Amino acid sequence: MDSGRAFYIGRFQPYHLGHQFVLENIAREVDEIIIGIGSAQASHEQSNLFTAGERVLMMTKALEELSIKHYIIPIEDIQRNSVWVSHVISLTPPFNVVYSNNPLVICLFNEAGFEVRQSPLFLREQYSGTQIRHRMRTGKEWKSLVPQSTFDVIKEIGGVERLKMISNKDSV
Ligand code: NAD
Repeated sequence: MDSGRAFYIGRFQPYHLGHQFVLENIAREVDEIIIGIGSAQASHEQSNLFTAGERVLMMTKALEELSIKHYIIPIEDIQRNSVWVSHVISLTPPFNVVYSNNPLVICLFNEAGFEVRQSPLFLREQYSGTQIRHRMRTGKEWKSLVPQSTFDVIKEIGGVERLKMISNKDSV
């Protein structure tokens, strides 16, 4: 096991079992994980359905199962990709390695001199936020793709109803 603190960012719209699989793997390689909740300002959109606080709730319970020290930090987007890494650093505890499969995130952290590791994809077709939101919107089964805590939060806040409501066209 390497010692160190890793940074992993996602939008987690919603937090699903693919994300959990990645975090389980990262936990085997480092001492602590900083989880950035990206696009923290966004919610109530078809692609960004949940608030940062709702995403914190989904993740907090699911991560209790991982016996690794972690910090969850919401991070708002900024207009300039070229200074985004500095923006992230200004909001997080120090870290020495980044985990991501997102090409832009990899590019920006590589250019800033960070080691970036990619994690194996876990049934990406199925375990994908886009796929899960599509299933929610069209009434298909999606519970098996997310941790119980994500299901509970979506139920508590009426997430399926929210998605259907904001997907509607004007009805006047
Ligand atoms: P995401 O939730 O789609 O994915 C998070 C990570 O999990 C990614 O590395 C993804 O590859 C991985 N993943 C997803 N499903 C997986 C599966 N089934 N198996 C294995 N891995 C899986 O989030 P994202 O879109 O990558 O988040 C990046 C965030 O960084 C966004 O919020 C984006 O806006 C932000 N960002 C902002 C700026 C800026 O503000 N200028 C610049 C770069 C990135």
